[in-house]
This record gives sequence, structure tokens and C-alpha cells, in this order.
Amino acid sequence: MWRAHAALPQWTGCCRATSACRALSVSARRRMDHVPQSLVRGNRSSGTGAENLALNERVQALIASGHDIINLAFGQAPFPPMDLAVKALQENAHVTQYEPVRGIRPLREAIVKYHAAQDELEFDPDNMIVGPGSKELIFLLMAVFDGDIILPSPAWVTYKPQAVLAGHEPVVMELSVGDEWRVTPEILAQTVLNKCSSKNKLLIFCNPDNPTGAGYSRDHLQSLVPVLREHNIIVLSDEIYGHLTYSRDHVSLAKFCPERTILSSGLSKWASAGGWRLGYSAYPSQLSALCLAVASAASHTYTSASAPIQHAAVQIYRNIPASQEYSRHCTRILAAVAKYSRSELTKCGLKCIAPVGGFYLFVDFEILRPHMARMGMKTADDLFARILDDVQVALLSGSPGLLRPEQELSARLSFTDFNGADALGASQTDGLPLDNALTPEFVEKYCCRVVGGIQRLVSWVSENTK
Ligand code: PMP
Repeated sequence: MWRAHAALPQWTGCCRATSACRALSVSARRRMDHVPQSLVRGNRSSGTGAENLALNERVQALIASGHDIINLAFGQAPFPPMDLAVKALQENAHVTQYEPVRGIRPLREAIVKYHAAQDELEFDPDNMIVGPGSKELIFLLMAVFDGDIILPSPAWVTYKPQAVLAGHEPVVMELSVGDEWRVTPEILAQTVLNKCSSKNKLLIFCNPDNPTGAGYSRDHLQSLVPVLREHNIIVLSDEIYGHLTYSRDHVSLAKFCPERTILSSGLSKWASAGGWRLGYSAYPSQLSALCLAVASAASHTYTSASAPIQHAAVQIYRNIPASQEYSRHCTRILAAVAKYSRSELTKCGLKCIAPVGGFYLFVDFEILRPHMARMGMKTADDLFARILDDVQVALLSGSPGLLRPEQELSARLSFTDFNGADALGASQTDGLPLDNALTPEFVEKYCCRVVGGIQRLVSWVSENTK
């Protein structure tokens, strides 16, 4: 049934945001009440859907009704897409036919060449599926997979609901901030020994990670391989943020354990085209039976990814130098915003690891526990609702969506609420060689909304931890 979101105010309050949020909650609940729950199978009835999307829709509605909310809860590329991508999409608008289930061959071939140039990975277009977003392909993999699904905690909001929807009871593997939130061989082996019962196991592995920003060096990846082989674990390596690694040295698990790794990526993050809905999964020949089963499931559900988008994507993946230059500009802007945000947050006593790529910081708000006790707040829900109420900054609570324990005071902070067109334009025209980092002054000038959000948060935390 309906559950009001963690970071939206619940108490009878004073500010405009509070009453507006409550009004939204009530209308949504009424809509849900019209659905007799007996029509919904088993545990498929969790009312709100994906927490990040539901929260974003509600925050957008509040913004539209005049509330000055800075949205650090939602992770979406802030940049305009490449001109060549837009042009290619316009040129292909007339293509209306259904395309092959696995995606058009020129696109699969272009993606293979792109990975060869970018990561020195070898894929086979015949063991690849292009779909309407990598999310759908991850879900279909879970739907056809027979065995235990191992999810990390913290995790992207969608993995667990997808696993449940696909009929699994996922095994949750608790990661530690002491390991900078990485999956380690020890934790993985212990999880398998203590919690898994099937011969087959599928590990969902996100690199660089959403929500923590954790990343894996060659050594880290190599250390996992013996455990994967010993315990018959295959891996869905979600590398949707891979080409947004700040140091540009992203390395895939597929380099070290190709026979067990399914690489998942797409246009949503590095190409700033999330709403175009195009993702892909690249399988090794050893897992071609799984690839076939996913393709069969795709044929019975979505048929094929949108035709014009696929044809446009061919141009994007074929123009490797232009794509690389574009993503390098986006990446160095994100790196500068990440550094600025982390530095400001840690100065006031909040804690988070330095992200290696992507859009997120995973922030520990433990220092606010004494303040919460004084104010009668009990849970992370209360805390993030209070922050939204007091300073109109939206954050995504670690619990329950990111699979963190209820008592933990953690939240994901996405630093993408800024005008990406201005920032990208400035980066592209400032004449600074691409290897040179952008300064905090650049961030303050061109990414001022996120800077404003961070400063509101810092003032609020400083005030309440005196
Ligand atoms: N994996 C992760 C970790 C993500 O953050 C997202 C998007 N938020 C996806 C997969 C799905 O991306 P898409 O379906 O847009 O390809």
C-alpha cells in the first residue's frame, strides 16, 4: 500500500513545502485506493513504484507550484546531448518499422567497435542485446535467471524491486564504508557461504557505483575473479557510469573475467540521453544461452528498442573521437562538482567517500543524531523530511530504497541540479586543455544551483551541530 516517501515532510508543519507535500501524498493515496489489492499478485503491490522516480515526480510538482526546492535527490545527466546525436535523431524520425529484437546490426557492431577503442574490450554483436534502456535488460536477465541473485547494500533503488518482481528473493550483501563501499573477495565469499543455496549465482555489480561513487582498480577486480570462479558466480556488471569515470581510466570486470561477465551500459549517462531509452547488454559466448533467453523474453514484451533512436545511436557510437571529447568535457565538469561538494560537506562534519565517477555522493549524517534526539526525530525519514522542510533541499534516504538499515542516517546526494548547457558551453570554449581540472570558481559560477543546495545543507548542519 501507499507509503509516503522518506524525504517528504510528514509532521504537521508550518512551511509551504510541508502542506504542499501532504496534499500531493493524499491525492496519490486516493488514486491507489481505487485499486483493489486483491487484483495484485503477492508482493507486487508496493504502491509508489521506483522510489527515486516517485520522489522526483513529487519534487517536480512542488517546484512547478512555486517551491524553491533544490533537487539533490534525482540523478539525471544535466547536459544537452551532442549536436550530432540530435541531428541523427531528426534524420531518422521517418523510420517507423519494428526492428530486430536484439537491435539493428549496425548499432551492435558500432557498440562493439566503440568498446574496443574505449576499453579494449572484445564483444560479439551476436551476443549482444540492445533494448529500451539498460534497466529493462537487467530486469529481463533477472526474470530468466535460475539461481540466487546477490545484491550489494548500498544499492541502486531498482535492483531489489526488479529481483522481487522477477520472482526472486534476493540475497543482500552488506558492504562496508571501511572498504570504501567496494565488494571485496572476503565479503563475497562469506555471503555465498552463509546466504546462498543455489548452484547458480548472479552478482549485480555496479562500477562506478550508484549510490556510493565507489570504483574498482585493476587489482580490486582481479582479486574478485577466483571467488567468482570457485563459487560459480556470474556477474551483471552495470557500467552505465563507466564512461563518466573522472580519471578516465575506467576498467571493466570483463577484462579479467570475460567468461562470467555481462556488461550493461547505454546512452543514458555519458551521452546525456536517459529519456531516449537506449541500453545494451554484452554477453560472453559462454553465456549465450542466457542471452538467447533474454532475447526471447524481449520479443514477447517490448519487441525492439525505438527505431529512430537506434539509428541515431549508430552515429553516436561510430563517431568515437567526437563522443570521447564530449564525454570528457561532461566528466571533468562532474569531477569538479563532486570535489567541490564533498569538500564543503566534509568541512561541516558530514562524511562521504570520494566518488570515482558518476553523479553521486553517499553521505553519512550521523553527526546529527544528538540534534535529532533533542528534536524528537527518530528515523532517517524524519531527518531528511526536516531538511526538506527547513531548507528545501531534497535528498534520497539510504533506507529503505538503497537497502540501508532503518537506523542508519545515510542519504544519496546527486550533484546534477545545475544548468548543464551553460557549464558545458563554458568548458568547451574556455581553451583549457582537457587534462586540466576545472576550478571551484568554475563550479561556483556555472553550477550555482547545486552550489546553493550544498551551501543550504552546510549552513543547516552547522547550525544544528553547534
Ligand atoms: N543502472 C544504474 C546504476 C542506474 O543508475 C541507472 C539509471 N538511473 C540504470 C542502470 C538504468 O539506466 P537506463 O535504463 O536509462 O539505461
